[in-house]
Amino acid sequence: MRHDRRVTPAPLNDYYKEKTISLLTKHRKESIIAPILSSAGCRIELISQFDTDTLGTFTREIPRVADQLETARRKARIGMEISGCALGLASEGSFGSDPFIGLMPWNREVVVLVDDIIGIEIIGMAEEAGTHHHLAASRWEEASDFANRVGFPDQYLTLRPNNQNDPRIIKDITSWAHFEDAFRSAAAIADTGWVFVETDGRAHGNPTRRQIIAKATEDLFRKMQSACPSCGSPGYAAVQSFPGLPCADCGNPTKIARAQLWLCRKCGEHETRETARQLADPIFCDYCNP
Ligand SMILES: [Zn+2]
Ligand SMILES: [Zn+2]
Repeated sequence: MRHDRRVTPAPLNDYYKEKTISLLTKHRKESIIAPILSSAGCRIELISQFDTDTLGTFTREIPRVADQLETARRKARIGMEISGCALGLASEGSFGSDPFIGLMPWNREVVVLVDDIIGIEIIGMAEEAGTHHHLAASRWEEASDFANRVGFPDQYLTLRPNNQNDPRIIKDITSWAHFEDAFRSAAAIADTGWVFVETDGRAHGNPTRRQIIAKATEDLFRKMQSACPSCGSPGYAAVQSFPGLPCADCGNPTKIARAQLWLCRKCGEHETRETARQLADPIFCDYCNP
C-alpha cells in the first residue's frame, strides 16, 4: 500500500464513450440522470415498461446502505435483461432521520452502474437533509399552512383518511383546487375526522430529491471518469474513510476524515490517500465543542 499526498483525481477515462447503457426507471428520473452522464459520451437506453414499485416503495425507516444498493443493482439487472445491454444503470432512494441528531428528515440516493463487460460495478451516492414531512390535520387551514411550508405545489402531496396506515391513499395532488377537494373528501370518509397529509417521496413530485439524485449521478460520473493507475479500468474511487483529522485548536482527533482508502474493483489496486485538509474546524471537535 502506498502512502502519499496525491489528491488530484486520476486521469480522465473515455471507456464509456459510444457505449450503450440501459436505464431502468419510473417517475421520470431519466431527465435527471441522462443529461449528466451524456458528457461521458455514452448512449442511455431508457427502459420504462417495468413497474419498479413492485421492488418496494418508501418506508419511513432508512434502510442499510447494503440493502438500498441491492435494490438498485436488481433494477439495473432487470433493465439489462430487457434491453440486452451489457451495461445497466438504476437508482434507489430512501428517507429516514438524519444520522446526527435524528430530528431532520434525511434522504439518501444511490445510482449504480453494473458493467458486465469488465465485471465491475460503480456506485454514485449522495445524502443530505430531504423533504419528507407529514401532518395529521382536522381543519383545512392546518393542511394548507403545512402545504405552504413544504413548497406545495412543486412538492406534491398525498393524503389518507384517519392515519398513515389507511390504505385509501390519494396521490398526485399537484394543484390547490385538487388538494382542497381531496382533503374534504378524505375528511368525510375518515371516522376520526382526521386526515394524514404527507409529502410525496417519488422523484417527479419531490424537487429536493431530484437535486440529491443529481448529486449522486455527478458522483457516479466522476468515478466513471477515474481510471485505475494500475490496470486503467474505470471506477477507481474512495471506498472507505478513516476519521481522526486533528482539531485546529487542541490537536485531538476528530470524526472528520484524515485519509481515504482508494480501491480498483477490477484488479484490487489500492492506496491510502490523505485528505487535502491538515486540520479540522474545532466545531467538529468533541473536546472543544462537545
Ligand atoms: Zn485496476
Ligand atoms: Zn479541539
